[in-house]
Amino acid sequence: MKLNSIFQSIQGEGRFQGYPSDFIRFFGCNLNCIYCDTKQTLSGDSFYIETPEAVAEKINKSDILDVCITGGEPLCQEEELLKLLKLLRGKRISVETNGSIELEPLYREFYAAKTDSELYFSTDWKTPGSGNPVFDERNIGFLRKSGAGWIKFVTGTVEDLDFIDEKLPMLDGIETYLSPVFENGKEWFSAVEKFVKSHKNIRLQLQLHKILGIE
Ligand code: SF4
Repeated sequence: MKLNSIFQSIQGEGRFQGYPSDFIRFFGCNLNCIYCDTKQTLSGDSFYIETPEAVAEKINKSDILDVCITGGEPLCQEEELLKLLKLLRGKRISVETNGSIELEPLYREFYAAKTDSELYFSTDWKTPGSGNPVFDERNIGFLRKSGAGWIKFVTGTVEDLDFIDEKLPMLDGIETYLSPVFENGKEWFSAVEKFVKSHKNIRLQLQLHKILGIE
């Protein structure tokens, strides 16, 4: 499979924010967001080829419970991703995805393998501010019934907030986060704070990696 990097850091978002984590960054994505901060994973030659077995062997040696599989979009290499997921032992795995590809088939195949790891999806629903608000809405029903993850919106414009306002009613029962674009500064944080206060079922979450200046 094509990888960009493997490293250790702190989980920056979602339910497991703040925990130490091993990160596996996949190369390649099916979208091209305006604010993408991992452009190196979208095209070019900043990748290397590794087998799922070799990656799993390395990660399984780590004492850290959490594994975050990120990108790029990991589901663009779904077959190799599934092989890797099945080989990880006793891990709490989060797959960071843009939600444009159906998640349930991967989830079913993973649990059919009866490993001793847990699998979650950190699902980043792209807003208009990303330039490509693409989402597979089958993932909404799946996340609600399985509880296997959460939805995050990164928001940088008022248009984004209107978009999220429209989507929120259909996300009842799903853990949902709102993350203001860090570079927009304090004034924008205040607008997002107001939005969170006036809505149910959405939690403010700051972009920890940007605040700390870490990968
Ligand atoms: S989905 Fe993520 S990795 Fe892909 S272009 Fe958008 S921000 Fe970048």
